[in-house]
Amino acid sequence: MKYIFGNWKMYLDFDESNILANALLQEKFDENNLKLAIFPSALAIREVIMAMENSAFSVGAQNVSWVEKGGYTGAISAQMFLNVGSEYALVGHSERRHIFGETDEDVRKKLQACLEIGLTPVLCIGEKKEEKDSGLRNTCLQRQLAVLAGLDLKNKEILIAYEPVWAIGTGNACDPVEAEQVHHWIKEELKKYSGQEIPILYGGSVKAENVISYVSLPAIDGVLVGGASAKFETFVSIIKKVEEII
Ligand code: PEP
Repeated sequence: MKYIFGNWKMYLDFDESNILANALLQEKFDENNLKLAIFPSALAIREVIMAMENSAFSVGAQNVSWVEKGGYTGAISAQMFLNVGSEYALVGHSERRHIFGETDEDVRKKLQACLEIGLTPVLCIGEKKEEKDSGLRNTCLQRQLAVLAGLDLKNKEILIAYEPVWAIGTGNACDPVEAEQVHHWIKEELKKYSGQEIPILYGGSVKAENVISYVSLPAIDGVLVGGASAKFETFVSIIKKVEEII
């Protein structure tokens, strides 16, 4: 099973999201060997979930609030996304951490909220360029993974996305062999927190031209695609490329 998840970020408005969702519905994908999911904006998620019902695609939220309900202007809770049919939620995406100032403690609370209600979190982790250059990659990833301590992961589904910050939206994708070494390291680190096998996706400037170099490596369970997932041709060509090797 390989995972191909598409984070549409804030690239598409309501109409554009529905147009892309409906275009994806016209295609046939290998549902037996692929796990496909899309992450539209909160504005479009309910329409997209309804359109994708009975399709190969699951739908997830890009961000959640850990509080269930209340005076939190502008926020949407994990529970509210679950109530409209979301299956997944991105938690700790680098843009949330570095543009919106989300802390590890925020990430921990979001993970906990998702796990408690049965929304599958995709915990996004990744080091900045300065951290990589100064040999602090593992220290950074170790700190970001430490939010898992104390969470009840038993029989819960959770995924990790390794997304080096310097590779996101830059065209400067991580060397696949290097990414695989990091995935191996993450797998070892995860043993501190869970006895279960946790899938790890690579994210950062994935496109049709390089996707095979990642998904053909055993420690890379799939990809989280940003920019290239928000356009029909580029997203479909990524999925078709992966279908050729599974
Ligand atoms: C992302 O936002 O998760 C991402 C990987 O972006 P991109 O593919 O555009 O680098």
